[in-house]
Amino acid sequence: MSESLQSRYESVCARVEQSAKAAGRSIEEITLIVVTKNHPAQLVLDLLELGARDFGENRDQEASSKAEAVAESLAASGTPPDYRWHFVGQLQSNKVRSVLRYAQAVHSLDRTSLLQALEKELAKEPERSQLDVFIELNLTDDPQRGGLDPKSLEVFAEAVLRVPQLNLRGVMGVATLDRQAERDFEFIRACSDRVRALSPGANQISAGMSGDFETAISFGATHLRIGTAITGERQY
Ligand SMILES: *Cc1c(COP(=O)(O)O)cnc(C)c1O
Repeated sequence: MSESLQSRYESVCARVEQSAKAAGRSIEEITLIVVTKNHPAQLVLDLLELGARDFGENRDQEASSKAEAVAESLAASGTPPDYRWHFVGQLQSNKVRSVLRYAQAVHSLDRTSLLQALEKELAKEPERSQLDVFIELNLTDDPQRGGLDPKSLEVFAEAVLRVPQLNLRGVMGVATLDRQAERDFEFIRACSDRVRALSPGANQISAGMSGDFETAISFGATHLRIGTAITGERQY
């Protein structure tokens, strides 16, 4: 394993801890998801050895084969640790079945057609445990960007809450580049309050990436999605 991976991982963990402390928050309420897209399964295995337990991917094709490779490798080496895959990218309905095989959480639930596809696939597996979901918000004026129009938040959240096999955890957002991240995180937090008013348990906030996670923590983020600050530059 490269020493630089270890030092980047440890340095991000230390920064998360410091930011949580500065915000008067407990580290226990923050989940660090390492986004491993465009990196091989070996990187996930190395990160598991360093103590990481939550991993994020944004494309099913890459994620499904990586998840399988990681599981196989761990099975061959004894007792596998507990770890989770989070799907964080735009999700096409026809990929839902595949994503459900490995993901414990989907952070990009943003439209009715995807909700229906999830409901339909989950109904085929009544034994499966609930899927954790976050409603992704579109913080731009561009409908192509993915994410739900925040104006529809209550109506959509109610629809999600009606699906028994979905566990609505909260909201997710990606800060836009064209204004200060603070404004976006403030807005995400206001949206989180609106969802929490409908369902007190849906109080989690998936926000914060390599460039802005410290700010996100100060605005209440509970699930950080951090790629390059830990993995190094992605190999395309
Ligand atoms: C790639 C990605 C991240 C991580 O981005 P970094 O800037 O590398 O930390 C977070 N969230 C989503 C949705 C992503 O696609």
